[in-house]
Amino acid sequence: MIFDSFKNSTNQSLGNHQGHTIVMKREDQLHPIVSGNKFRKLKYVFESLPKQVSALLTFGGAFSNHLAATAATGAYFGVQTIGIVRGEEWQNKINESETLSFCQKNRMKLYCISRASYSEKENAPEIQALLKQSTQTFLLPEGGLSNLAVQGCEEILNDADDEFEAVCVSVGTGATLAGLRNSAKPHQKIIGFPALQQTSYTSAVNPFIINHEFELQTAYTFGGYAKVTAELIDFMNQFYQQYGIPLDPVYTGKMLFGIFDLIKKKKWVWGKKILVIHTGGLQGIAPMNRKLASKALPLLRYSDYL
Ligand SMILES: *Cc1c(COP(=O)(O)O)cnc(C)c1O
Repeated sequence: MIFDSFKNSTNQSLGNHQGHTIVMKREDQLHPIVSGNKFRKLKYVFESLPKQVSALLTFGGAFSNHLAATAATGAYFGVQTIGIVRGEEWQNKINESETLSFCQKNRMKLYCISRASYSEKENAPEIQALLKQSTQTFLLPEGGLSNLAVQGCEEILNDADDEFEAVCVSVGTGATLAGLRNSAKPHQKIIGFPALQQTSYTSAVNPFIINHEFELQTAYTFGGYAKVTAELIDFMNQFYQQYGIPLDPVYTGKMLFGIFDLIKKKKWVWGKKILVIHTGGLQGIAPMNRKLASKALPLLRYSDYL
């Protein structure tokens, strides 16, 4: 599917929970595949590429939301994209990853390299060789934290959202959190739920943030990035049953679990009107179910969605 249109996101009520009104901003509805914050983060990067740039090169795993979004956004803006994939074994089985097949359909050139080379990023010999072929290749770092990414994320909130006292978001690099903080009003608290165990976001994000008031809830990583438990999957299935909203197990599933848990334990202290950002990431659901099956964990039952 080529990336040809965007919808605006809408706010959807999740009802009242012990006196707290929770509303979800459905950024996952921006586009079926390139949903949520990844498009926000890429939009200005592509729009402000210098004319002479012939390709944009970036990095990701075989199921990366960022790679899928970059491929599709590149197709949309008519820019050649190059994806460096972690793990050389993927080169011969692109079609075993929905993400990589999607990238290829969107004309991304894929190079699957060893984990050791991947960890060296643009200094790896393979990438150096690629960069030598053309001097006009633009490098987009993994995760894509930059001023332009933050600028795009400043467009998530609008004036109609002023009524909320708290805005919740999942945190990877913190680019989305930074954009929300910059565009939120002074009376609004921003609460971030990190998906990674490490807690260096604050320093990474600092240069991009105008107002430094935000909270990080670090107790809901479920053991680390992309780690899942049966309790988390059960919660996500229940959530889907109740609201018809699919969450992803890496970011938004953990955040929602955290929000409900804090309210239940009477530890929620950031106001009664809560806006939760659904940052998307749903292109990875089918592969996640294969991973869950291989670990004998419950599967995500998003029947109407998958
Ligand atoms: C990438 C991603 C995030 C993290 O965004 P950052 O701006 O890097 O903090 C959150 N949610 C989803 C669904 C994502 O795909």
